[in-house]
Amino acid sequence: QKRNLVKLKGVSAATTDGTGVTLLANIALPDDLPDAHKAGAEGIGLFRTEFLFLNRSDLPSEDEQYEAYLRVIRSMKGKPVTIRTADLGADKALSPEAMALLGDADREEFNPSLGLRGLRFTFAYPQLLRTQLRAILRASSAGPVRILLPMVTSPTDVKRARDLIDEAKRELDEAGERYGTGIEVGGMVEVPAAVAMIRDLIPVLDFFSVGTNDLVQYTLATDRANAAVSEYYDECHPAVLRFIAEAARRVCGAGKEISVCGEMAGRPDLTDFFLGLGCRTLSMDASSIPTVKARILRIDIEDAETFAGRLLRRRTSESVRKAVEDHQAQYL
Ligand code: PEP
Ligand code: MG
Repeated sequence: QKRNLVKLKGVSAATTDGTGVTLLANIALPDDLPDAHKAGAEGIGLFRTEFLFLNRSDLPSEDEQYEAYLRVIRSMKGKPVTIRTADLGADKALSPEAMALLGDADREEFNPSLGLRGLRFTFAYPQLLRTQLRAILRASSAGPVRILLPMVTSPTDVKRARDLIDEAKRELDEAGERYGTGIEVGGMVEVPAAVAMIRDLIPVLDFFSVGTNDLVQYTLATDRANAAVSEYYDECHPAVLRFIAEAARRVCGAGKEISVCGEMAGRPDLTDFFLGLGCRTLSMDASSIPTVKARILRIDIEDAETFAGRLLRRRTSESVRKAVEDHQAQYL
């Protein structure tokens, strides 16, 4: 079985009817690149850049970040690299020493998941985002880069981020520094507000990526890191499936790309669901790529659409899980 999966490395992911699916890797640091290559990833769908900022008492300089982004872009040799701006806060907090460098040593979070995180954190410390954007833009002259914004809830969030991107470009222009052209800007769909606002976000974003880890957390009001409520953290909750479907339907209908990059993207028992909704790009931990690819090679798109419709009609998590298991049986 394992050997068969390794053999799949050079096979491109397509369904039995010939629909191509792009399988990308999630990475936290450039050190994760070898695994992404071994798994045959067709690009990086999520570079969680906040990891460059963690477990240290200082902040990564523009040059240090530039080097890290450049390493990833060069290593992907022309394949797309999706760089998410730092999603700091919540479970990924800066050290007190680094917070002191931002001039906010005494800041305390009483409810971190609902506190300053993602875009909001970087809007509170815009210098941190400016530095990061300059580093990303400079690195983008070495290969195709897309910028992904975490925790988007409104078009205003996107406008603020785009203004900072434009400002960074102007600074680089003035300094005579090069950057890539046509850099797309996408948004994470990971807060229920982004689903409710999807029609208004579609015109202002170039692509979308569903962050199921946070979408589950915020839809079900369940801290993803709190064991006391883990039984309520339920990827099969109909509310979660309906939100994902609503976002996918609207974004695909508008002819834009929507991928899934949370943990659910790596579940082969849900691959049919995502393809059935119209998703053609999935980004996951490299270790999941071979099994998801093996599943895609056996999927018929029309069957997947029927399956997605069936799941969306379920009214309880239990019944969703039963339908997923029954469907899974057909592949055994
Ligand atoms: C997510 O929320 O699903 C996601 C991909 O982002 P992170 O896990 O880094 O919050
Ligand atoms: Mg997230």
